Amino acid sequence: MTNNELKKAVLDMTLRCYNEKMFAGTSGNLSVYDAETGYMYITPSSYPYEKMTADDIMVIKLDGEIVEGAHKPSSEWRMHAAVYRDMPEVKALIHTHSPYATSFAVNRKHIPVILIEMVPFLGGDVPVADFAIPGTDEVGTNCVKALAERNACLMANHGVLAIGNDLEQAHIRAVYVEDAAKILAIAKANGDPIVEMDEKDIDYMRNRGKKGAKK
Ligand code: 13P
Ligand code: ZN
Repeated sequence: MTNNELKKAVLDMTLRCYNEKMFAGTSGNLSVYDAETGYMYITPSSYPYEKMTADDIMVIKLDGEIVEGAHKPSSEWRMHAAVYRDMPEVKALIHTHSPYATSFAVNRKHIPVILIEMVPFLGGDVPVADFAIPGTDEVGTNCVKALAERNACLMANHGVLAIGNDLEQAHIRAVYVEDAAKILAIAKANGDPIVEMDEKDIDYMRNRGKKGAKK
């Protein structure tokens, strides 16, 4: 994709997430990484989504050097850079504060495997990354640890991080995290005990996923 196409792709996904209420106010951020140039295309920091255009998308290097753009890059650029550095297969990140999932991040409780699609899309449960001060490298290193064998994690007292080969894949994973959290919250409110999926069924689905499903 060209420079302009990458900026447009980041903008379109940002507005989509905003319209889906995955971001409140100016919270959340997302990026794509272009391994050919070594550039990351990332949302600007604290910039109103209603006003955002493709020109507002920042182009930066993994060390934070600004290549293009008139704003500050997202304050979480270090987290994005840490994941791209440590997980070379990842090319897109979406960080949300989607409310149901973030409520479990506040409880510091993982979302167990309660739904079949969590296995192919998320790789299993949604673990909680340890708390780190926003904007620090530690946010990224804690997320990288939590993301071993998983496609998304909660961030303690903060939000959600979903990874993907591209923005579409990161997005559907962020959607399934929020969906699982919402359904779990409702199931808890029903009052009866939560029944998690059996390990053997999780294993079966995980192995079936390895045989070709692009999830
Ligand atoms: P930015 O607006 O700087 O991206 O910050 C939003 C956020 O979610 C911080 O964690
Ligand atoms: Zn955040």
